[in-house]
Amino acid sequence: MAASPGQLLIALVSEAADAALCSSTLAGRNIDRTAFIARNRTALLTIIASQPALRAQLAVKYADQLISAQCRHALLDDLLSSDAETSAAAAKRLGTDPAALTRPIAPSSDLALPPQQPGPTRADGEARRASQLMRRLEHARARRDQARGQLEYTRRELRELKAEREAALSDRDEALTNAEALRAQLAAERARSAALAADLGHAAAVLVAALRPSPALEPERDIRELDRQDSTATTGVAIESDSAATVALSPPWDAENLVTEALARAGLDVNAFLAVLDAIAAPPAQAEPPTAMSAHRREITITPLGGGTDIGGSCLLVEVGEARILVDCGTRPKQRLSRIGPPDLDIALTGDIDAVVVTHAHNDHAGYIPVLVARYPFMDVLATVDTAALLPTMWNDSVKVFERTAHEHVEAGEPADNPPYRTSQVLAAVDRIRPVALGRVIEIADGITVELFPAGHILGAAGVVVTAGTSTVTVTGDVSTPSQNQASVSGLVVPDVARGSDLLIIESTYCRKGGSPRTREVERFIDTVRETVNAGGRVLVPAFALGRAQEVILTLRNELPGIPVLVDGLAKEVSRIYEQQTAGSDNPLTIFGDEIREVAPGTRRGVIVTTSGMLTGGPAITWARWLLPDPKAALLVSGYQDEESAGAELLALADNQAPTFSLEGEPIEVRAFVAKFALSAHADRLGLASIVGDVRPDQVMLVHGLASAQREFADHLRRRGHTVARTARWTT
Ligand SMILES: [Zn+2]
Repeated sequence: MAASPGQLLIALVSEAADAALCSSTLAGRNIDRTAFIARNRTALLTIIASQPALRAQLAVKYADQLISAQCRHALLDDLLSSDAETSAAAAKRLGTDPAALTRPIAPSSDLALPPQQPGPTRADGEARRASQLMRRLEHARARRDQARGQLEYTRRELRELKAEREAALSDRDEALTNAEALRAQLAAERARSAALAADLGHAAAVLVAALRPSPALEPERDIRELDRQDSTATTGVAIESDSAATVALSPPWDAENLVTEALARAGLDVNAFLAVLDAIAAPPAQAEPPTAMSAHRREITITPLGGGTDIGGSCLLVEVGEARILVDCGTRPKQRLSRIGPPDLDIALTGDIDAVVVTHAHNDHAGYIPVLVARYPFMDVLATVDTAALLPTMWNDSVKVFERTAHEHVEAGEPADNPPYRTSQVLAAVDRIRPVALGRVIEIADGITVELFPAGHILGAAGVVVTAGTSTVTVTGDVSTPSQNQASVSGLVVPDVARGSDLLIIESTYCRKGGSPRTREVERFIDTVRETVNAGGRVLVPAFALGRAQEVILTLRNELPGIPVLVDGLAKEVSRIYEQQTAGSDNPLTIFGDEIREVAPGTRRGVIVTTSGMLTGGPAITWARWLLPDPKAALLVSGYQDEESAGAELLALADNQAPTFSLEGEPIEVRAFVAKFALSAHADRLGLASIVGDVRPDQVMLVHGLASAQREFADHLRRRGHTVARTARWTT
């Protein structure tokens, strides 16, 4: 609380300083507040005079002190006046005359008056100022009350929304319970109809026995008849003659006569009728197994259409009867645009497709879906909520990449390929995305269900369990295990429904023997960054935009919190989605903030994390060109490099100590430290084997890997008692 006009002015100037220090130009800089205020007093007064909102805010906050006896001063009133000119004049006066507040001064309206004019005029001025102040105070109070009202209204709205949400959730639970009850009812109906079918057979058997009595039974019947004739006295049945007794007492003969007569009247042959009844009572032996099977077990056929014995263009066709589903439909980045889709996709395009299930948003799994939707406009695209949030960004980026790379892999003189899709196809595909909660059972077609489960790997990644009758096929998609300790996602969780699957289709990117454990690679990476930065060097980490970049950033944030990290390229946008999708969850991911920022023009320091991961394009090229000739700098490659990529070439050159390499046709002198770290988001050999052991399927199929490594890993699995199917068309 200020005790004099001078102190009150200091408070006002300090407020202006705080506002200035929070502004975008000064925020985050390490500025000493006291020295800043002392050095910029005049400028801060000008800030107050130039910002009506700030003046109004200060007038409300300091209203009591402005009218108090100790602090009241006309120059302070003028400084916070709603009139800009009055405020500017007061600011100027206070800035140039340090003693201005030590003597009483008439308000601005009086400043123009001759100083010798005394008495009544001055008193009038004071009264006017007082009433002005009162009005301002009233106004401020009214605004405060209005704000309170708005706050109350918003709170009420929030309460109502919460109640609506609760109601919606309870509706959903009720609907789920109803669905469960209906499913149980359906199962009961099916069981009853099966029982009835069995009854029909029984009825037919009885009828056949009645119409075609076994000859061996005839004497018995005669004896029974005789017995009956003997016992007429005790049974009290009147028998008039033998023949009459036979008709009255032997229902089979009665039935035979009646049926025979009926058949004769209908013009049907008795033997033909008996043959039909025989067929109902005892269906032909060869027809029995399929009938019995179809009630329980349904045939699932799997056809890998891409990404089977290589990496890229992942796509699986799943067929159950007439129903056809695709799991994933990705692109192959090393192919020319006209061949970028899954290599055998044509097999699926011969018929209808009911839905495509997307395991995760990496382009090699989901990048070709807009082409599919263009062909099947009513096909649903099922994906987890997080994958659904990532897909539009990934597809829109692909449209840009298609434009940039239209001429790649095309013979000289040949025209460029048309892009597989453009923005309009992306919009249509986005419209077909149906987000699916993990663990929810979704019926795709009659009796065929899919259920998604967490697969680790990257945000939103899921495996899928396809069930038809008692047949089950589980597809992992790309996976990581909890033991990999990724910073952005936890690992795969095998759901109970997947255990004992008929077939487990599992990725095999890193199924080879050996390889350093991920935790050790992370430590080595952190040490290298720390040493380079401490020695005054800069670090470039080219990383895949989705998944790897966020892992690298979060790892640096957790392990080296003081080092500035700059994020460039598509990684920026994807990181924002990571933040949005995980906000409010159990594991909210804060990527930006503190030392971690988006790259702004002119930024030239710290660790730079940017795309592309293999130095095949994007801002990484520009950064690499700038940094590689610097002997203090380091370029740290964070994952898999295609054999023909610039990243792989650079690593090979670094191994051979070669001094230059060519980036997009331009020679670059390499003096920076270059190294690779296996910060993989894929399970290693141990992890993959443990998943197979956990699921314990009848058969395993390896996909998303290199054939030679898969063969060796398949032998390893066989030695552990698993049956490994060929990566080819497969049927339950
Ligand atoms: Zn992936």
